[in-house]
Amino acid sequence: MTNKIQIDKTHESRLNQLDFDNIPLGTTFTDHMFICSFRNGKWQKSKIMPLGTLSTHPAAMAFHYGQAIFEGMKATIGKCGSPLLFRPSENAKRLNFSAKRLGMPEFPEKLFVEALKLLVSIDQKWIPKSKGSALYLRPFMYADEAFIGMRAATEYKFIIIASPAKPIYNKRIRLYAETKYIRAAHGGTGEAKAAGNYAAAILPTEKAKSKGFDQVLWLDSNNFRSIQEVGTMNIFFKINETIVTPPLDGAILAGITRMSTIELLRHKGYNVIERNISIDEILTTSENGLLEEAFGTGTAVGVAMIEEIGYKNHSIHISNNNPVGQMVLDTINKVRVGEIQDELNWMVKV
Ligand SMILES: *Cc1c(COP(=O)(O)O)cnc(C)c1O
Repeated sequence: MTNKIQIDKTHESRLNQLDFDNIPLGTTFTDHMFICSFRNGKWQKSKIMPLGTLSTHPAAMAFHYGQAIFEGMKATIGKCGSPLLFRPSENAKRLNFSAKRLGMPEFPEKLFVEALKLLVSIDQKWIPKSKGSALYLRPFMYADEAFIGMRAATEYKFIIIASPAKPIYNKRIRLYAETKYIRAAHGGTGEAKAAGNYAAAILPTEKAKSKGFDQVLWLDSNNFRSIQEVGTMNIFFKINETIVTPPLDGAILAGITRMSTIELLRHKGYNVIERNISIDEILTTSENGLLEEAFGTGTAVGVAMIEEIGYKNHSIHISNNNPVGQMVLDTINKVRVGEIQDELNWMVKV
């Protein structure tokens, strides 16, 4: 695609309003955004322009029928001083996987990566440099055709916005194993990064928080036994010297951090097995002293150590030692800023 991206830069940068020592969570956005519309069966000329509000028709189909998907990734500054992206092609592929599942057009993968690079390069002064911080990138696509009626929309927007972010969890987290609500069922949209999946998760998550937990641990939709994943993270356990994580069974989001964690651990010689794990097994192994670690993986947090899982009237406590989880977190954070060698070739220069 020879889609040259038009660039329209702001005359008034808001960068001087940002206090890098005190970045508010999710409310600060860089000066620019990338935007491209799908009209008449194809993606139109794209541009990078000053970040601003969009005027959208009240009948825009995303509002009514929920055709909306997103991605999440991070840019950091490498040792060399230039920005780096973490495996951006994987996000491009996953966006298109989600698009297909929701009956939306695919966005050209090359243009996706090119747009990210250009936006990050233009707004690179917004990339925080303190440990564990990054510029969070949010590519997303939604139906903006004005139409009342149930069918695939014919008009869409693909946009990328960017938000500087400090590390989210530096404490160990507590999960609530949900036995009433589900996140995803086989055949549903659980393996797509669809906005609607989150809509369905909000009420159960708020309820879990009101009970003092940080996130929901989702169990399978058939009988609430098999562990699926956590709010916005995939989950790993270390049981009797083996690292286990649930398999991508069609109801779990294929996390890029999950994939990277598996690759890294295997590269380091750990035994990693993707297999079904029931909540009862976690309860039993914890009682037998074989549950050695539990951690979640996702772009936003990197790796979050799990300290406890609440399940029915049980409270499953996990050892407060997380050598494997910590090694994965440190490795990802160091590779991102070029502090250690990128042995698995994750980083892409902007
Ligand atoms: C995004 C997401 C993850 C983590 O995926 P990463 O690519 O590692 O950021 C895990 N679970 C859900 C439900 C998600 O939406």
